[in-house]
Amino acid sequence: MAYVIAPPCVADYSCVEVCPADCIEPRPDDPSFDTAEQLFIDPSRCIDCEACVSACPVGAIYSESRLPEKWSEYVTINADHFATVR
Ligand code: SF4
Ligand code: SF4
Repeated sequence: MAYVIAPPCVADYSCVEVCPADCIEPRPDDPSFDTAEQLFIDPSRCIDCEACVSACPVGAIYSESRLPEKWSEYVTINADHFATVR
């Protein structure tokens, strides 16, 4: 079970600064940075610490089990980001 970033994300990078696992991307030096509309969490590296949730100013981060149904596809969308850039 990992945390998931949903569409409210405004890409302000607050979560990146607090994540101890460095699993939130893209970062400015990543190839996909210019085209990404939001950030994503790598489920294989997230350690479920929840630090990102309180850091997010727009409430865009959820544990997978609490992700609103309307954004359920974002579990796969977050994971797919890492499948395509690596
Ligand atoms: S739950 Fe923790 S490890 Fe996972 S993305 Fe958030 S800050 Fe990073
Ligand atoms: S803190 Fe929230 S709004 Fe900012 S980049 Fe992370 S998920 Fe997006």
